[in-house]
Amino acid sequence: MKVTEHLENAKKTLFSLEILPPLKGENIQNLFNHIDPLMEFNPPFIDVTYHREEYVYKKRENGLLEKKSIRKRPGTVGICAAIKNKYNVDTVPHIICGGFSKEETENALIDLNFLDIHNVLVIRGDAIKTEGAFRSEPDGHRYAIDLLEQVMSMNNGVYLDEELQNANPSNFCIGIAGYPEKHFEAPNLKFDLGYLKKKVEMGADYIVTQMFFDNQKYFDFVKKCREMDINVPIIPGLKPITTVRQSTVLPSIFHIDLPEELSDELEKCKDNAAARQVGIEWAVKQSKELMDFGVPCLHFYSMGKAEPVYKIAKELF
Ligand code: FAD
Repeated sequence: MKVTEHLENAKKTLFSLEILPPLKGENIQNLFNHIDPLMEFNPPFIDVTYHREEYVYKKRENGLLEKKSIRKRPGTVGICAAIKNKYNVDTVPHIICGGFSKEETENALIDLNFLDIHNVLVIRGDAIKTEGAFRSEPDGHRYAIDLLEQVMSMNNGVYLDEELQNANPSNFCIGIAGYPEKHFEAPNLKFDLGYLKKKVEMGADYIVTQMFFDNQKYFDFVKKCREMDINVPIIPGLKPITTVRQSTVLPSIFHIDLPEELSDELEKCKDNAAARQVGIEWAVKQSKELMDFGVPCLHFYSMGKAEPVYKIAKELF
């Protein structure tokens, strides 16, 4: 089923989660162990992120540079199929511009069709560490909106491969990213929302937000979207803080603010166990307020840590 159908049919706020593919060489069983307890809360869909391979260049003794892979998380499509099969739940693979030519994207989307996966989250992807700024492939997409256009073309039965012109149209439900605190490259929120609106006009079906810790930012974002006639569902993304360090790391990586009250609480924490407790309590408080506001779904960035999400969900669902 499509994410939007789940949202339309829901009688109460839904619980969903986003997981990362395991590092290359790790067993998928670790991922299942992560998901198993969370199935108690009946997520109608699970997102699986996509990560480009990261490299460093090391100088060999002979002076030549050697390209060395430092992080690999392959397998988004395969993992989506495995989760769908094991738990009978819909999966949402993240599809990114970075690292893909248009043809490779078309092939990945065809694979998803074969696997009966009809939801995708269409995003640009970030720059990898060795790039200063995001770089697309020579025959790839520069912005998420260009990738979205390709998915929409396939939904209309138009493929890049001319031999496929009589093939069946795809039927993807398309999610896109939204930033209550604006995307860090956008000069202002209005600029950012302009492209968000264009994506919705082009056919995006729903929005999932970047993590935020101050609900007011989400409420203001939804208000501005509605004023601009962006009327698709806006699913809030929530990340429970799990370590003391995250109070500085998350704002710097994700370009978001932490409310003073939360930073003060985290500063008092002597260890990560204390920070985790603060993170759980904050997320429960945030979630309750969001549920009262009437959000269709609470989407949790579990980032390899199921236990805090379990504890939060246990309080809410
Ligand atoms: P875009 O929509 O392309 O926007 C990027 C910037 O360019 C914005 O500032 C926007 O205002 C501007 N812009 C947009 N279109 C145009 C245009 N046509 N001309 C000029 N400017 C334009 N990253 C991953 O690598 N893998 C993941 O799995 C992943 N999952 C994510 C899930 C969610 C819910 C979110 C919120 C983010 C996720 N990201 C992921 C991170 C995401 O890839 C980055 O935030 C990326 O920098 C921007 O992606 P986007 O789709 O918003 O980009």
